Amino acid sequence: MGLLKLKLHWQILIALALAIVVGLILGPDGSLLGLQLDAALEFIGQLFLNALKMLIVPLIVSSIIVGVAGIGDSENLGRMGAKTIGYYAMTSTFAIVVGLLVVNLIQPGVVDGSPEEVFGLSQDVASFEQDIAGKGAGDIVAIFLRMIPTNVVAAASAGQMLGLIFFSLLYGFFLTRIPNAYAEAQYDFWNGMFEIMMRITDLVMRFAPIGVFALVAETVAETGLAAFVPLAAFFFTVVAALGIHFFITLPLLLRLLGRVKPIHHYRAVSPALLTAFSTASSSATLPVTMECIEKNAGVSNKTTSFVLPLGATVNMDGTALYECVAVMFIAQAYGIDMSLTTQFTVVLLALLTSIGVAGIPAASLVAISIILTAVGLPLEGIGLILAVDRLLDMMRTAVNVTSDSCGAVIIAKSEGEDRVLADEPAQLGQGRAD
Ligand code: ASP
Repeated sequence: MGLLKLKLHWQILIALALAIVVGLILGPDGSLLGLQLDAALEFIGQLFLNALKMLIVPLIVSSIIVGVAGIGDSENLGRMGAKTIGYYAMTSTFAIVVGLLVVNLIQPGVVDGSPEEVFGLSQDVASFEQDIAGKGAGDIVAIFLRMIPTNVVAAASAGQMLGLIFFSLLYGFFLTRIPNAYAEAQYDFWNGMFEIMMRITDLVMRFAPIGVFALVAETVAETGLAAFVPLAAFFFTVVAALGIHFFITLPLLLRLLGRVKPIHHYRAVSPALLTAFSTASSSATLPVTMECIEKNAGVSNKTTSFVLPLGATVNMDGTALYECVAVMFIAQAYGIDMSLTTQFTVVLLALLTSIGVAGIPAASLVAISIILTAVGLPLEGIGLILAVDRLLDMMRTAVNVTSDSCGAVIIAKSEGEDRVLADEPAQLGQGRAD
């Protein structure tokens, strides 16, 4: 019983630590004392993921509509939009530059011998080839074409968030421009849906320690430690660069632009960061991020519901950084010299694709294959990094979500919200206060 009284982020952290131990004991064959546990873990983990994902479409649509309608006139909306896009572009650029500097400094791919022998090509490459075959710069255009969907229901069912966001932005904007009687009914309807989604999130999060345990134990069991040895330098480079962004850049922005204590912020959003780490999906984490930002950090509903759904889809600092480091690593491994112009192209494409790719596990790999083709690097280079991709995915997703959450706080403060991170945060998972 005592365990249940612990704050949610402690419960999740304990689950995470236990999961690592259990995962290592289980190993790739997934059995413990003759019991085959991997299927059970997969089942439980999947249930938790499904529950989070189930909320995404109604949550994105209702929150953006309510958020945009709440912001009201076009002048306010323009200002909020400009700030949000400005912040997202700025942090992603910072992240990529840090990645580029660190990978050029450490040079994890520079070794004697053929890259396949030194780093080992992952067996999984074949199963992945279908996804990456024939990717090129045209695919970036295709991603942005989907921003205006031909069929909004199809976009929703295919999980094409950019299209859904675009439609919801328009819907919210014009909601305030129809006769009052309709506008009120519409606003109440979507607001009600949003509130319901938040409460279901609260319910789902009560199961987070169990879900996180299952997801992480399964991942650790499957990956093991052996895969890391040849890729240690690459792994360390990514972790160092992500660490700089997470521990230095974002806290500095919180301090300088938001004038809040970074530690307070990190504490408020810790359940979201842990969920992002465990699920490796910023979309699936979105409901939790929204709850944390509204309830624990005290950001208004209006700002939360405008900034965060957009951020979960378009702002991926960790992903952008990772894409850049991975491409440079592959170039180094194959001994291909990258001129400054080519490196600049990589930076630009990393920025663009990080906006376009979905917030789902392993989304970066598709983006990386697009960049490799665009700058003329061997596509099979992707096989070099697959072995450690999952763990790095968990870390970069946590960074993606952290940056979104910092954006919500900084923008709320710039809009004059004074309740932001003002008092001791309430805790998610312990029921809503109202
Ligand atoms: N898994 C990441 C996310 O959902 C995307 C990626 O970098 O693969 O944010």
